[in-house]
Amino acid sequence: MHAIRCQCGTVRAQINGKGIHNHIVCYCRDCRAFAHFLGTGEGTLDAQGGTEVIQVSQARLQFSQGVEQLAAIRLTDKGMVRWYTTCCKTPLGNIMSDPKMAFIGLIHTALDRDNIDKDFGPITARFETAAALGVAKPAQHGIFPVICRFIGMSLAARLSGSYKQSPLFDVKAQLIVQARVLDAATVAALKAE
Ligand SMILES: [Zn+2]
Ligand SMILES: [Zn+2]
Repeated sequence: MHAIRCQCGTVRAQINGKGIHNHIVCYCRDCRAFAHFLGTGEGTLDAQGGTEVIQVSQARLQFSQGVEQLAAIRLTDKGMVRWYTTCCKTPLGNIMSDPKMAFIGLIHTALDRDNIDKDFGPITARFETAAALGVAKPAQHGIFPVICRFIGMSLAARLSGSYKQSPLFDVKAQLIVQARVLDAATVAALKAE
């Protein structure tokens, strides 16, 4: 198990068991905009504006306290659902709105920093490196195996039905809280930061 907690400790959860996972950094502008939305760019983003993420199946995620503090936004009405905690604005993770795409990309800020590499191994891929900040871009690498594991994760969750155990969807397959869609002007301003 791997401990999850928001910065203030109100929201606590864990990643249970073993399974397929990915340890990646995403340099896309959307992930960066989310950090700026929360005002946590400094603590969340690396020197080139990347967000370090652990992808696991949502069924492995279990909250022990503070679920009522969860909130979510989307940058567009079709975009990823981006979760954070209202108590202290800790970015938590990103999911697709389709519950059958059963993974969550957990953002390192809510993870147990000292044990990330021990529990999930080192970073194996860097995505969207063309959108990284700075002149010398990080090398894009490791994409294919990550995508294979990602598909494996989603497929396994779909076939086994374990996607229905996600704590982020209710029994009717609706998100447990409605995700607020940001307006285009707000998103444009966040992306300009
Ligand atoms: Zn908190
Ligand atoms: Zn991204």
